[in-house]
Amino acid sequence: MAEAVQRGSDVGRSPRPQGLWAETATSLSSSATLEGMHDGDVAIIGAGYTGLTAALYLAEAGVTVHVLDRHQPGWGCSGRNGGQVNPGFKLDPDEILAHYGPQDGPRALNVARSTCDLVFELIDKYAIECQAVRPGYVQGGVGSHGERALVERVRQWQAHGEAAQLLNRREVSELLGTEAYDHGMHHATGGNLQPLSFARGLAGAAMAHGATIHGHSPATSLERSGPGWLVRSNNGSLKVQHVLFATNGYTDALWPGLAKAVVPVSSVIAATEPLSDNVAKSILPGRHAVSETLRVQVYYRKDGDGRFVIGGRGPVWGDTDSFSDKVVRQTAERYFPALKGVQWHHKWGGWVAMTYDHAPKLMRLAPGVLASMGCNGRGLAMSTMFGKQMALEVLGEGAEMPITEQYYTPFHAFRNLGVWAHVARGRLLDRFI
Ligand SMILES: Cc1cc2nc3c(=O)[nH]c(=O)nc-3n(C[C@H](O)[C@H](O)[C@H](O)COP(=O)(O)OP(=O)(O)OC[C@H]3O[C@@H](n4cnc5c(N)ncnc54)[C@H](O)[C@@H]3O)c2cc1C
Repeated sequence: MAEAVQRGSDVGRSPRPQGLWAETATSLSSSATLEGMHDGDVAIIGAGYTGLTAALYLAEAGVTVHVLDRHQPGWGCSGRNGGQVNPGFKLDPDEILAHYGPQDGPRALNVARSTCDLVFELIDKYAIECQAVRPGYVQGGVGSHGERALVERVRQWQAHGEAAQLLNRREVSELLGTEAYDHGMHHATGGNLQPLSFARGLAGAAMAHGATIHGHSPATSLERSGPGWLVRSNNGSLKVQHVLFATNGYTDALWPGLAKAVVPVSSVIAATEPLSDNVAKSILPGRHAVSETLRVQVYYRKDGDGRFVIGGRGPVWGDTDSFSDKVVRQTAERYFPALKGVQWHHKWGGWVAMTYDHAPKLMRLAPGVLASMGCNGRGLAMSTMFGKQMALEVLGEGAEMPITEQYYTPFHAFRNLGVWAHVARGRLLDRFI
C-alpha cells in the first residue's frame, strides 16, 4: 500500500504508473523479453485489451502469435483506466448508423451493442479474477442539456432493444447517493472491474492457449520480408505474415503517420483509502459505474475493496505522472460530502485516445497489417471488442466492423491547442446548462 498522505496534499502517492491497480491486481504470468529470431503467423504490437484479446482469439484458433509490449502487459490505458465497463461507442446509436452508412451501420451498431457482453463472457469463460460486478452503468445528467441528451440517448437505445432506462432526480439520487444530478440513464449491460487484473487475465488466457507475450520488448522497426513482415525489437525479431497494431494512445512513430490517427488526451484518477462501512453505505450503494453528460465530466465508482475511485480531465500538456488530482477530489467531496476527511491514497493518469469524429478506427495499413485505436474513453469494452475484430479478420472470418484505410486527424499538429479550446469551451458551456 502506498504511504497515505493527508487530504488535500498532492504529492507522494502512487509512484507506479498504474497507481492503485498495480497494488491490488492479480499477478502477471511471466512475459519474457523477445530474444533471437522467431517465425510465426502474427505479431501484435501492444499488450493492452486490444492486443491481448486479439492474441487470445488467434491462439485459441491455433495461430502462432507473439505479442510485444514496450513495457509489460497492461502498462498502457488497460492498466490505468477507471474500470468502468461502459456500453457502446462514444457515438449514440443513431450517430453510429449515420456514420457508417446504410450498409455497414447496422453491423457496427450490433458490434457496439455487444461490447459489454463480450467482456463478461470472457471473464466467465476464462475464469478471470478481476472483481467484476455488473449492476449496470449510470450516466448522470445536469440541467436542460443533460435532460435533452439523456432523453434522446435512452430513446435510441430502447429503439434498438437495449435495456436503458431514464431516471428522474429522485431515482438517480437514490441509486447513487448524490444530489448532483437532475436526471439519469441506467443502462443494464454495464459494470465495473479491476482493470489491470482483467488485462492480466486476458494475458494468462492467451498464454494458456499458446500465445507468447514479450514484455520490455518494444517493436523498433517493421519492414517487408517476402510475402510477410519482419518486426524487430532490441534483442530479437519476428518473421510473420500479419502485424496488428494495438498501441492506442501510446502509438509511437513505428508506422509512419499512425500516431496521427488519434489525439491522446490526458485523464487523471484519484482513489481513497477503503471506506468505512458507515461512509460507504451512503455512496454508490449499488456499486454502479457512473459518468456524466457534462462536457467536461468526471467518472467514478467504488472498487472491490470499497475505495472511491474518481477520474476526470487532466491537463493538456505535461507528463501523466505529474498531473494534479485536486479537481477530481474536490468534485468527489462536493458530490458526496461524506468523503470529507477521508484520505486519498492514490493518484495516477494516462492518455486516452480520442478521434476527431468520435468513431473508433479499424484500419488496414498495408497488406497483412491492421491497426485498431481511438476508443474515446469508452475503451475497456470497446477495445476488447476491437481486438476480437482484428482476430476475426486475420482468421479469414471477416471483421464485423468496416475496415478503412489509414486515418489522419485533420490539423493534427495543432491537436493540443484544439484540446485546450475544446475543454475551455466545454467548461464555459457547462456553467450555462
Ligand atoms: C485514466 C484513464 C481512465 C480510463 N477509464 C476508462 C473507463 O473507466 N472505461 C473505459 O471503457 N475506458 C476507459 N479508459 C480508456 C481505456 O482504458 C482504453 O481505451 C483501453 O484500455 C485501450 O486499450 P488498448 O489495448 O487499445 O491500449 P493500451 O492499453 O493503451 O495498450 C497499448 C500498449 O501499446 C504499447 N506500445 C506502444 N508502442 C509500442 C511499441 N512500439 N512496441 C511495443 N509496445 C508498444 C504500450 O506500452 C501499451 O502497453 C480510460 C483511459 C485512461 C487513460
